[in-house]
Amino acid sequence: MTHLNELTIAAARDALRAGETTAVDLTMACLTAIDAGDGLNAFVHKTPDIALDMARAADARIKAGDAPDMCGIPLGIKDLFCTKGVPSQAASNILKGFKPEYESTVTTQLFNAGAVMLGKLNMDEFAMGSSNETSCYGNAINPWKVDGRDLTPGGSSGGSAAAVAADMCLAATGTDTGGSIRQPAAFTGIVGIKPTYGRVSRWGVVAFASSLDQAGPMTKSVRDAAIMLGAMCGHDLKDSTSADLAVPDFEAALTGDIRGKKIGIPREYRMDGMPAEIEKLWADGTAMLKDAGAEIVDIALPHTKYALPAYYVIAPAEASSNLARYDGVRYGHRANLKAGDGITEMYERTRAEGFGHEVQRRVMVGTYVLSAGFYDAYYNRARRVRALIKRDFDQVFAAGIDAILTPATPSAAFGLGEMANADPIQMYLNDVFTVTVNLAGLPGISVPVGQNAQGLPLGLQLIGKPWDEAGLLNHAYVLEQAAGFVAKPAKWW
Ligand code: GLN
Repeated sequence: MTHLNELTIAAARDALRAGETTAVDLTMACLTAIDAGDGLNAFVHKTPDIALDMARAADARIKAGDAPDMCGIPLGIKDLFCTKGVPSQAASNILKGFKPEYESTVTTQLFNAGAVMLGKLNMDEFAMGSSNETSCYGNAINPWKVDGRDLTPGGSSGGSAAAVAADMCLAATGTDTGGSIRQPAAFTGIVGIKPTYGRVSRWGVVAFASSLDQAGPMTKSVRDAAIMLGAMCGHDLKDSTSADLAVPDFEAALTGDIRGKKIGIPREYRMDGMPAEIEKLWADGTAMLKDAGAEIVDIALPHTKYALPAYYVIAPAEASSNLARYDGVRYGHRANLKAGDGITEMYERTRAEGFGHEVQRRVMVGTYVLSAGFYDAYYNRARRVRALIKRDFDQVFAAGIDAILTPATPSAAFGLGEMANADPIQMYLNDVFTVTVNLAGLPGISVPVGQNAQGLPLGLQLIGKPWDEAGLLNHAYVLEQAAGFVAKPAKWW
């Protein structure tokens, strides 16, 4: 029997409308699953009272026949989103106790549509990381296990991924600056889409690297991603980079027909030393799209190899500037000062105590690459490389390619501590297939397609044309249907 918390958004929506269940029952099932899953450390702040109030209101709307698709759907919200009156700490000690006076645009839209907030989800501190190990709350744990070993759910949206994969919520919000929706989705066997830059408002989402950050849904199916994305996006006057474009009916775009579409396979993504299981998954996915009637085309994205270095200059540069606001005055934590200490000591001690090591490293790298003597050599050069990466994609799409298929990650989920204790570059390599998409501002989606020999989920990434989330989702839908990935983690928690 399927428990209510195991439902997809689509199934729950249909059951709610048919009067077969209620938002309160769905919410209670999720709250029970959340308590049972405490060991996964996915939810860092639970809001059961708010959830039940919202669920009751949703039930009233459904009864009145006024129910948008997301009405009554219980969600987890990444801790990076400001939620009014509810702790929103970006998993950082520097925001300890911070309760925003305002609600992010994304959560406002979801809640206006009747979605229910179950609580806030674990993540890497300020969304910097690929394993959720930089969180001030300690890492979330992947519900998938091998030989009793704890694995990372990926990052930075690791809590979101773990919570969805473990059926603690029907879906969750995530954010993606260099892969933080797609990589954790791949590590946990769920779907995650990063929309085109500007599709979703960034207002009220704690900023990491403003020219790269985008929010998106993390869901159990492609259909759910289409439904939830529709409720999240739209023009927002409060975000000057938000696009004034109509929002298509993404769910209606899931026709399952991709005959005659051209799928690009970028040869530069065939990295040296790529594990055989990833190589095979990519070949399998290619065959699935071909069998569905798409034409497979070998393409070149020649500047791919410069993407990671460019990203790890641009993202820290923007982060160092964005994080300057955490000065002990405006938000959250302030260090205790001794008699005679001045404002310099206050800044220094507050930031030393409040920021974790990875965040400090990014601030230092960012400040360095933006400093007068190195600005041209690093930051400006990285911006030029970024333009070339974008041009590679522009040329491929101008030549008629509809979507690009790549692996989502270079490996399956890895063990806790395995990379965090190594050289930070090792961790950065996780983003090799995903950062190009953020640098070029494109939409990208991760779809679970297979499992490795140890049973861990593996995902493929589809990259779409700017603003073509509808087409991208349809390609993803075809891949999902062909792959038939239905595996679930064994309930050990
Ligand atoms: N892992 C990347 C980083 O650490 C991407 C993070 C993200 O997308 N938020 O910067």
